[in-house]
Amino acid sequence: MITDIVQAFIAFLEKMNNAEDALDPNIVGDAVEDILRLSNVARLKITYYENEKFEGTDNRVTYYVYDKAGFDDEKLFDRRITAANGLVVYEFDHVMGAEPWSERIRDRLSLLTSMLYVFNSRQMLKQVADRFGYFDDAGYHNLRFFITQLSRLSRIRGLSGLVAAHFNLRNFQAINNQVGRKNGDTIMRGFVDGLEECADCEIPVSRIGGDNFIMAFETDKIDKVIKYLSGTVVSFGDGYGESVQVSASAGLYIIDDDFVLVEPSDLLDKVMPTSMIAKNSGRDSIMFYSDELVERKKHNATIQHLLPEAMEKEEFQVYYQPKIDIITNKLAGAEALCRWLHDGRLVPPMEFIPILEKNTDICKLDFYMIDHVCRDIRKWLDEGKKVVKVSVNLSRKHMLDVDLVKHVMEIIDRHNVPHELIEVELTETTTDVEFTDLKRVVGGLQQRGISASVDDFGTGYSSLNLIKEVPWNVIKIDKSIVPVDSDDERSPRSVMFKYVVAMAKEMGLECIAEGVETEAQVGVLKRNGCDLAQGFFFDRPLPKPEFEKRLDGNN
Ligand code: C2E
Ligand code: MG
Ligand code: MG
Repeated sequence: MITDIVQAFIAFLEKMNNAEDALDPNIVGDAVEDILRLSNVARLKITYYENEKFEGTDNRVTYYVYDKAGFDDEKLFDRRITAANGLVVYEFDHVMGAEPWSERIRDRLSLLTSMLYVFNSRQMLKQVADRFGYFDDAGYHNLRFFITQLSRLSRIRGLSGLVAAHFNLRNFQAINNQVGRKNGDTIMRGFVDGLEECADCEIPVSRIGGDNFIMAFETDKIDKVIKYLSGTVVSFGDGYGESVQVSASAGLYIIDDDFVLVEPSDLLDKVMPTSMIAKNSGRDSIMFYSDELVERKKHNATIQHLLPEAMEKEEFQVYYQPKIDIITNKLAGAEALCRWLHDGRLVPPMEFIPILEKNTDICKLDFYMIDHVCRDIRKWLDEGKKVVKVSVNLSRKHMLDVDLVKHVMEIIDRHNVPHELIEVELTETTTDVEFTDLKRVVGGLQQRGISASVDDFGTGYSSLNLIKEVPWNVIKIDKSIVPVDSDDERSPRSVMFKYVVAMAKEMGLECIAEGVETEAQVGVLKRNGCDLAQGFFFDRPLPKPEFEKRLDGNN
């Protein structure tokens, strides 16, 4: 026959064995309850000292794991030294007025402490082992640690009221290059420590690789954290010039009340894509998660995925927008603009070109466009049409391609198109590297008789150097500096327009105004000597058959 006490011990062993945390006072209390009740124990106090030498000091953690009845003076102590020189003291109090503990009961309680000690030690060892797995090589807490801690918080008090964030340090490579690796490490550490303090983090900021981190903090710290991430001066020494400005791009997720953390991906799927979008957006370097944002990311991925098939099925079409000589009112040229006929809808370029520009997909599309334009020109020439020069847009992404000129020429020559009928439009660039490449590309094209125009002049970093150093043939003045009807002659736009046209002409460059929409604007162009225009006032970008009619009218 199994007695009650044996049954109580079996239940105890089972509970402790299955316990996720065998040091959790609630779990221990529940497991020992039956044994203690059957043994006239009123209270069980467990005290942990990190080191035996702390015994009797305040440097300890104490739990009353069981506290059910009044007690008298009868007590039982048990001291156990752990493998790491720690100390655990178990202290039993006798139920007041109950029969004094017999020798058997004392042995029984001693057996219980032995067992508890085994479970406690096992848990402590597990914690030490876990701790080893919780840091990366540089001593930062890692993702495993972060998620474990967040799960713990989630169990204890839920996660609502917290914000989770993923952030990436901006230009950290450049900082490393500037100050050296060792100082770079100091700076990173300084930035992270300062952030933890500013955000009052309960869980340390954890590194998930390179200069990427994850963190969680209370909602009321959002403003402080954003300010900190947007730019903070961190020093790496006391000397003059030994500090740098560090900033980060970040994705923040204000944790929903009904959010449940089952797997790390539940959280990472929210903060990481948001942070990526923030990093790549160029403008808002800190963004909040929203379903819409992540939908957009999915949408982008879909477009990238659809591209090869869409090109194969020839879903992309060339629209031609006429360029007009405003003195003769004749067709002087055209710009090839891409349209995507997808699922019965005509998708404008702004909906897919920026997405394709996130990698080099755009280059495939540009080559496709050149190929189609050359095919059309060849056909028109063969039909005896009076063909005008057509410009094609080339993304800046092509600048990485050292054989760009060769690739462009191959397509043009494959269709046997006279070089003077093709022009390439390139937008202004913002970096030195691209600038050098731009000179090489434009020069190379020009040597082969292909003209080049600087597109959207006036929207970027329109530098005089760009005009001076790169051998352009044409300046396309962006519509943002073409005077509108409400501008008078002294408005900044009018002045800029006037002098850009004058400069271009003086330098022997062709000059065309984009986005001309009204008759009055045509007047302004004439007065300033800008003889070429492109814009809705004359024509919208036209589908091929319509543009062919314009070519016929040109004869
Ligand atoms: P872009 O090269 O500056 O082309 C001119 C844009 O201005 C065209 O927009 C055109 O439709 C629009 N536009 C023309 N006249 C007017 C006007 O009077 N008023 C206004 N408000 N707009 C006018 P679209 O076709 O939507 O193209 C937008 C941009 O997409 C282009 O700007 C170009 O940067 C890019 N793009 C279009 N096709 C291609 C392509 O095949 N390859 C590359 N890399 N980029 C392309
Ligand atoms: Mg253009
Ligand atoms: Mg333009």
